[in-house]
Amino acid sequence: MIAPLPLATTEPTKPIIPRRVVIETMFGCNATCGMCVINHPTRRKKGHMPMESYRQLLEHLAPHCDTIEKFDLFGLGEPLLDPYLAERIRLAKAMGFRNTAISTNAHLLDAKRRNDLLNAGLDTVICSIDGATKATHEAIRTRTNFERVVNNVVAMVRERDAGDFSTRFVIRFIRQPANITEWDAYRTFWGGIVSASRRDLILAYDIHDWSGQVKGRATPMALADTALDSAPCHHIFEKLVILADGSVALCFEDILEAQFGFGNAFENDPIAIFNAPRFRKVRDLHLAGKRKSLNICKDCKVLQNETLQTEG
Ligand code: SF4
Repeated sequence: MIAPLPLATTEPTKPIIPRRVVIETMFGCNATCGMCVINHPTRRKKGHMPMESYRQLLEHLAPHCDTIEKFDLFGLGEPLLDPYLAERIRLAKAMGFRNTAISTNAHLLDAKRRNDLLNAGLDTVICSIDGATKATHEAIRTRTNFERVVNNVVAMVRERDAGDFSTRFVIRFIRQPANITEWDAYRTFWGGIVSASRRDLILAYDIHDWSGQVKGRATPMALADTALDSAPCHHIFEKLVILADGSVALCFEDILEAQFGFGNAFENDPIAIFNAPRFRKVRDLHLAGKRKSLNICKDCKVLQNETLQTEG
């Protein structure tokens, strides 16, 4: 996790350089999890980002490599469906980007992909596994196979260890009523596979409802800090999110549609879009304590959810 950023002013003469860049190289998924918005109606077309557009994005962002601390190659979808994934990681690292990461359901993490990713120098693999049993995991991560997912991840951890690759693993559990009783068994099992000495982590987050976009999946907020309800959101100061079609989203909650119309990073410099008046206006609303006036932020529980994160 990167440390919270002191929120900057939106003074236009001081451009904000994101500390974290998210590039969705693939929009589409092999799974159909009920907690996800990927199959909700959208203007966006499923598919991967053209390699040439990706290369141009990196050229725009490369002068800021020293500031960009994290480089995520995933958005709404399964990155292992992207045929160019390993090539993209290799290119990003060659251009100086640090801390590359993917988040995957691991169903497609076969021997070839594991080998390609380890050798490309991928820094972090976040593995979405939501149960300690087949019945629970497959009920949540629909159209994935529990044994296959577990075997793929265990194999990649062992290949990482045997080859002494620097890749680290985050084994991630989305805590919800259907799996909450399995957390202890889950962390016991995965605790025997991954290793803290290699900076691996086992993490639990509470389920969330994408700012009300997925009905009936609201985060249990009983223990959350209510002072965060109107606090400015650090994500819009530190994270640049670029979707597979080039559109720039406000944050991960806005990833289905990029509904603010900030612009397209295939057509304009992504740093300029991140600092354009339209984006600054949203930051100003947050800084003025008015984020509830924005539909997507009104019911968002991301900040509260961050405080409830648990390490196994
Ligand atoms: S929707 Fe949530 S995560 Fe996104 S900017 Fe608003 S408060 Fe932050």
